[in-house]
Amino acid sequence: MATSPILQLDKVSKSYGETFAIRDVSLNVDRGELVCLLGPSGCGKTTLLRIIAGLETLDSGTISFRGEDLYGMAPHSRGFGFMFQDLALFPHMDVFGNVGFSLRMQGMSSDQVRMRVDEMLELVDLGDYRNRKVHELSGGERQRVALARSLAPAPKLLMLDEPLGSLDRVLRESLQAQVHSILKEIGVTAIYVTHDKEEAFALADTIVFVNGGQVVQSGPPEALFRAPATEMVARSLGLRNIIEGTVVRASESVEIASSAGTLSTAGPLPDGLAVGDGVLVIINERSVSIAPVHHEWAEMGIKLSGVMNEQKFRGGESEIHMTVGRSELVSIVPTLDAQTEMTSGDEVSVLVPPEAVTLLPSAEA
Ligand code: ADP
Repeated sequence: MATSPILQLDKVSKSYGETFAIRDVSLNVDRGELVCLLGPSGCGKTTLLRIIAGLETLDSGTISFRGEDLYGMAPHSRGFGFMFQDLALFPHMDVFGNVGFSLRMQGMSSDQVRMRVDEMLELVDLGDYRNRKVHELSGGERQRVALARSLAPAPKLLMLDEPLGSLDRVLRESLQAQVHSILKEIGVTAIYVTHDKEEAFALADTIVFVNGGQVVQSGPPEALFRAPATEMVARSLGLRNIIEGTVVRASESVEIASSAGTLSTAGPLPDGLAVGDGVLVIINERSVSIAPVHHEWAEMGIKLSGVMNEQKFRGGESEIHMTVGRSELVSIVPTLDAQTEMTSGDEVSVLVPPEAVTLLPSAEA
């Protein structure tokens, strides 16, 4: 079902003195969508969130919510909710007091407050914790109380700024799954800031990759993985098979002379590229396959010769490292399908299907 965006940013810019914190950002968020702003520290994620919240003014551009321009509207009138890394739970109140605080401030009756707080505590699986003091909670429980508190007033839009940033990795990963299912269960529209790609992948319907105050690329996580728009996005996503090449021929298919050998991908050439141009070639780690040297491939694609360097087991998946031409490449395969017939130093056959290859303009172009 087609939806129209609930939040629209159009060419929003903000600078502090000479520094552009946000430059020409346009962004649409659909109702119920979970958008992650992902990017390195200092790229402008928090500033963007604060502008949407009304805590920061914008220099130019417009922000509208449900079609209404938010210019000049006070933060509290926007009806948005927040959850920050610094949770700011009230230490002198118990869990019930914290979650119900803003509801009492809104003038809800005590019966209504009790019902809503109980509903929220059930949602975050802390139904039995209503009388606990904040200092009697674990880190993860505090985070869930903070989430219940920010959801209690039924915000029209929830903004989360690195809410799990202070937790250790194991706790963070388990909470990511919980936060995702809670936000989806309640169906709230949410913008979640993080610099951690794993977190963005665990949570997002849409990842908005920000760098230098600009949106570099946005889309569903799998689309960014399949076709990263820039080398920086590719490297930030952890892609490793990024090699140099030159476009040799372009018609229905595109032929590239690369440091791994001659490669081919489906045409046409991406905009801005021409025959003779230097390119960066990304070979999808999960689509490239390796087999013993005399293997007869049934699949379509370019076959290259290489040498297997090592195989690393990483739980359910295994990484096979190999040298192909002048390049070091990695192939990721399910551990159960991993090759047992090859060992380090063996000559191997490497299959690169056309859909495994993505071309980007080279950085010097
Ligand atoms: P992120 O959240 O991605 O780490 P920020 O939005 O906090 O990035 O910062 C973006 C840029 O704007 C940085 O260069 C930062 O130093 C600058 N900046 C942010 N807030 C202010 C401010 N109040 N005054 C001056 N510069 C600021």
